[in-house]
Amino acid sequence: MNSFLQQQSILKSQILEGRYVTYSKIETFLSDFDLMQVGTSVKGLPINALTIGNGPIRILMWSQMHGNEATSTKGIMDVMYFLKANAAFLAPFTIQLLPMLNPDGAAAYTRVNANGVDLNRDAKQQSQSETHALFEVYDAFQPDYCFNLHDQRTIFGVNGSPCILSYLSPAADANKLITESRKQAMGIIGHMNERLQQHLSNQVGRYDDTYNPNCVGDCFQSKGTPTILFECGQSGEDYDREVTRKWFSFSVVEALQCIANNSFKPSVYHSIPEVEKSYSDILIHNVPYQGAQISMALNYKEKLISNRIVFEPTLYSKGDLSRLNAHKIIDLNNLDGLSLDDLDDIAFIKKLSNMLDLTHYSH
Ligand SMILES: [Zn+2]
Repeated sequence: MNSFLQQQSILKSQILEGRYVTYSKIETFLSDFDLMQVGTSVKGLPINALTIGNGPIRILMWSQMHGNEATSTKGIMDVMYFLKANAAFLAPFTIQLLPMLNPDGAAAYTRVNANGVDLNRDAKQQSQSETHALFEVYDAFQPDYCFNLHDQRTIFGVNGSPCILSYLSPAADANKLITESRKQAMGIIGHMNERLQQHLSNQVGRYDDTYNPNCVGDCFQSKGTPTILFECGQSGEDYDREVTRKWFSFSVVEALQCIANNSFKPSVYHSIPEVEKSYSDILIHNVPYQGAQISMALNYKEKLISNRIVFEPTLYSKGDLSRLNAHKIIDLNNLDGLSLDDLDDIAFIKKLSNMLDLTHYSH
């Protein structure tokens, strides 16, 4: 176990919570680090880089390039305060973090930026000011490693369990050759996986490595910088993703330990199972319908309403769903008065949602 787990609960960044993390919410942390404005968003918000440490190994990290993916922002700020308080741990590194690459998307709770562009499909063109800022930082800082920090949807599972964290060492070319940089990234992921398995058995996955030169990670990997994609996922009803945050941060600290101690485990990488689209949010069994019993799967639609995220159940699929898993399973055998013969899909979901309190509200 690394000492991060003992210290996390007292870190200043713990005041960040929920899923709606905006620029104004991280502003209070900026002055605690060496701060540099490296760009401006389409709507004029600052894009900042925080630097910590002055060791020889340079690591560039960025979070919230997709504005509605804030779990890693919460978690990476925890890591930053942990490093600030643990000088020996920080000693080998100079870390530069862009905690919020897409502040407009964060405000609007969208994946894309204010021009509707997915910044992780803009690596070739660099058409957006946010993408431009990231590449300028990359060129100036010349990192030895890059950590690309994201959230993934709730639909991902691994070997029949929810996938709480997944990783990728992106391809550097269409042939997916194991280049030296890919191998190093694989070695770090292998190390993180070994440590995580001691706590999260069977809930860690590996992403598909189809090469996409428009993705920022693939681009940096092709330039020879070992790059890791981190994806924070869903497990159970932790829709604020606080449990995920904890294990994500733990894994970042482990990644740093791996680099400092040269304990790369590339051979472990391919033993990590690939993520599958095998989960829904809610699975309802035994719904009475035309004299039979069918299953219904619901997925939450995330909506920004009055400054918080509302998770509204919507229909994903119905019929025989025996191959699908879910973060919550309901058996209607125990409930009277609900039938798909009497109500249409939308009315049925609404009634069930009211009866069982299925709508979630993030902090
Ligand atoms: Zn993302």
